[in-house]
Amino acid sequence: MESQSILIKNAIIIGPEIKKGSLLVENDKITNINDNIDSNDADEVIDAEGKVLIPGLINTHTHLSMTLMRGLADDLPLDAWLNEYIWPVEANLDGEHCYAGALLACVEMIKSGTTCFNDMYFFMDHVARAVDEAGLRGMLSHGMIDLGDEEKRKKEFKETIRIIKKCHNTAEGRVKVAFGPHAPYTCSTELLEGVRKEADKYGVKIHIHVGETRSEVDQILEGQGSRPFEYLEEIGLLGEDVIAAHAVWLSDDEMDIIKEREVKLSHNPASNMKLASGVSPVSKLLSKEICVSLGTDGAASNNNLDLLEEMKTAALLQKVNTMDPTVLSAEKVFKMATINGAAALGLKDELGSVEVGKKADLVLVNMKAAHLTPMRHPISHLVYSANGGDVDTVICNGNILMQEKELMVLDEKEVMLQAEESSKNLLSRD
Ligand SMILES: [Zn+2]
Repeated sequence: MESQSILIKNAIIIGPEIKKGSLLVENDKITNINDNIDSNDADEVIDAEGKVLIPGLINTHTHLSMTLMRGLADDLPLDAWLNEYIWPVEANLDGEHCYAGALLACVEMIKSGTTCFNDMYFFMDHVARAVDEAGLRGMLSHGMIDLGDEEKRKKEFKETIRIIKKCHNTAEGRVKVAFGPHAPYTCSTELLEGVRKEADKYGVKIHIHVGETRSEVDQILEGQGSRPFEYLEEIGLLGEDVIAAHAVWLSDDEMDIIKEREVKLSHNPASNMKLASGVSPVSKLLSKEICVSLGTDGAASNNNLDLLEEMKTAALLQKVNTMDPTVLSAEKVFKMATINGAAALGLKDELGSVEVGKKADLVLVNMKAAHLTPMRHPISHLVYSANGGDVDTVICNGNILMQEKELMVLDEKEVMLQAEESSKNLLSRD
C-alpha cells in the first residue's frame, strides 16, 4: 500500500493527556502532536471537529473465520457447543472458507475501530492473505489439538512451522505468527513441551486458552493432579511470551504463578457470559498488576467483534460480580483494550497509545450523536455510551482503511456476499 502523510486537525486526542489538537502521520508513524500543525505539506487533511482520536483498539483473543458460524448455535454450554455444533462444522473447513470468514471479520473490525488482533484458527496462511489485503495488523496462530495422538501432534507442528516460515513478519510487518496450542485439555503434555521448545527456537509467542470452564479445571486436576496454570508451570510452558485467553477459574496460587511468570491474560467477558463459563477476577488481577487485556473471542460465541461494546460488558460484569461499582473504571477498561493489549502482544513500544514515535494505528470516533450528548468525559462516553457504529475513520500502519464510515480498501458488499456463499457452502457439506 502507498504510504502518505496525514494531518488530523481539531481532534480531541486521547493521549497521555486529553487535549484538543492536531496530529501528523508520516509513512507508518505518528510524527507530531501539537495544538496546531501547519497543513500545507500533508497529502491528506482530516478535519476531526467533534471527533475523538484514540489508539486503534486491540483484540487479544479471537477466531476471525468463525464469523461464518455467527448465530449457528446459541444458548449452549461450551462442551455441547463445541462437540455437537462447532467441531463437526470445522471438520469441513478449507482455506477458502477461512479466507472469506477472516475478510468478513476484518470489515467488522475496521468498522468498529479495531486495528490489531490475536487470532487462533486453521488455514492461517489464508487468514494472513485476508489480513494483508484488509490493511490490518494481526498475530496469527494455527490452533493445535492432538488429544494425545502422536501422528496428529506431528502434523500440528509441521503446519505451525509452515505458517511461521510463510507468514511471520510479512505484510510490511503487520502479520506475525505465534504458536497456538488450543488448551491444556485438548493438547498432550508432549505437545505443550514441544511448543515451549519450538517457540523459543523461532522467537515467537504462545497463544492458548486456559482456565475457561470449571470442568476444564476438574479435568486437569484429575489427569495431572494440579490446576491448569499450576500444570502449565510444572511442565515449563509459562513465560512472559504467553497470552492466555479467558483465565476465568483461578486459585490464588495460580494468580501468583501468572504474576511471577509475567503471563499476559486476555479477558473475554461476552463469551464467558454467553457460554456461562464464569467470571474472571479481573479487578483482582489488575490490582496485582497482572497484564489483563481484552478480547471478543470468536463471533460464534459473542456474537460480534465490537470492542467498544466489550469494554462496557467488562466493566459492568466486574461491578455486578464484586457488588462494587467502583471497580474496573472506564479508564482501566479503556487501557485493557489499548495499551494492555499492546503489552500482551509484546508491541507496547509500537502500539496502544497516541504518542509521537508510535505506529499510526488510529481511530476517530464521532461524538456528534444523540446518545453521546452532552459531551463530557470522552473515555466515559467511549466505554459506557458509544458502540462500534460510532467509529468514523480508521488508520492502520499509516494507511486510511475507513474514512467517514466509508471503507477505502475493502469492498464491504462484496466481502459480505462472499461470506454468505462461503457459509452456505460450509454448512451444506457433510
Ligand atoms: Zn477462544
